[in-house]
Amino acid sequence: MADEPTIFQKILDGEIPADVVLENDDCLAFRDVNPQAPVHVLVIPKRPIVSLHTATDADVELLGKCLRMCDAVAEKEGCQEAYRVIANSGAGAGQSVFHLHFHVMGGRELSWPPG
Ligand code: IMP
Repeated sequence: MADEPTIFQKILDGEIPADVVLENDDCLAFRDVNPQAPVHVLVIPKRPIVSLHTATDADVELLGKCLRMCDAVAEKEGCQEAYRVIANSGAGAGQSVFHLHFHVMGGRELSWPPG
């Protein structure tokens, strides 16, 4: 249903638990429930944005804050020298939760290109 809160909104609302790594007024970082790397953390804006495609110029500052938190996560997790940030935009790209999120992945060899 279009108006059903996403699972990430439920995390933000405290309705379901999350393994939080970092948090500030604008963004939340928590571990992915199905990790694809030793470090696999999701960074989300607290203000809901569906995807990078639906983000607007009004979201630029918030997007920047999310990216800064991605780097802070990598630093905290000790993979700051080699990590990857991925944002799947649209179902065809693999987006399954329609609240913008950045995957921060590291702690293993990261091949290129990603699948
Ligand atoms: P997407 O496929 O790019 O939309 O990524 C969604 C990610 O959210 C997937 O990697 C899922 O494993 C992850 N995920 C789904 N539900 C939860 C949850 O409740 N907690 C943490 N991660 C979740």
